[in-house]
Amino acid sequence: MKPAPFDYLRPRTLAEACAALKTADGGAKLIAGGQSLGPMLNLRLVQPRLLVDISGLEALHAFSETADALHLGAGLTAANIEDQRIDTRAVPLLQRVAAGIAYRAVRNRGTVGGSLTHADPAADWVNLMPALGARYELAGPAGSRTVAAADFMTAAFETLLAEDEVLSTIIVPKPAPGTRLGHAKIARKTGKFAMAIAVVVAEPDGGTCRALIGATHGRPILVEDAGARFGLGTGRLDEPGLAGLLADAGITTPAARHLHLTALRRAAAEAFPQAIPS
Ligand SMILES: Cc1cc2nc3c(=O)[nH]c(=O)nc-3n(C[C@H](O)[C@H](O)[C@H](O)COP(=O)(O)OP(=O)(O)OC[C@H]3O[C@@H](n4cnc5c(N)ncnc54)[C@H](O)[C@@H]3O)c2cc1C
Repeated sequence: MKPAPFDYLRPRTLAEACAALKTADGGAKLIAGGQSLGPMLNLRLVQPRLLVDISGLEALHAFSETADALHLGAGLTAANIEDQRIDTRAVPLLQRVAAGIAYRAVRNRGTVGGSLTHADPAADWVNLMPALGARYELAGPAGSRTVAAADFMTAAFETLLAEDEVLSTIIVPKPAPGTRLGHAKIARKTGKFAMAIAVVVAEPDGGTCRALIGATHGRPILVEDAGARFGLGTGRLDEPGLAGLLADAGITTPAARHLHLTALRRAAAEAFPQAIPS
């Protein structure tokens, strides 16, 4: 099947892109790398009147590093990060996660912003940024606003992005020195979407011990006080407690529960190698 007919616009600025979205009043779609939108157009799951191609917008390919954060343009691809064409070493998980997404052809074109906005519950960036405490800058016709990554995705394939907004920048805080990080992705084979993802971010000196359980049926589950609540880092994970948390998110089958708990155990073992969880 081929896409339904659409008009095509290649804006020169972010403001022009936002203005086009506003004028189209819900009838337009942004396209970046096209790795998710392309198939959806071909299957006619979406039939926009206008396609606004933001792949050439310089502002979306910007990268900068400040004392406490990395600022990633939403149009940077997974391959940009995998190859370290931008230096993201201050946040070590970024490169590893980038390299584990799909296949090289997809990583060459698929952008971080496209993935976050598509909001597939199984996607890798979707299940990393909230754990890192990232924030997103959303550009709109009246200016821009910043939202927490943890709030951005509202449900499977749903975000709080307005119809005339563009996700422009992803601000990823640098972990404090001594922060322990763990990440695990379970997939049928390398390059496939995740069946379970877990991320552990434990700040030193009794700071935040955050766990993310991802590739659920909806938005990722984020637990801010995972040490106190579920024994993360103590070597004794509260599995019944975690099973309750999973059940609240609709994950009730033993197989799915097992996958999510295994991912969490692996991420915890990486973050706390001295305390192999039970
Ligand atoms: C074979 C295959 C395997 C894959 N495996 C994985 C995997 O293992 N893990 C994983 O995480 N992903 C995987 N993906 C998904 C892939 O990572 C995403 O398709 C890609 O990152 C989306 O980015 P894009 O630039 O191509 O977005 P597009 O397809 O261009 O756009 C996707 C959506 O985001 C919107 N959009 C794009 N950019 C912006 C922006 N800046 N602001 C607002 N809205 C925007 C578009 O309007 C559209 O709704 C796979 C894809 C394929 C085809």
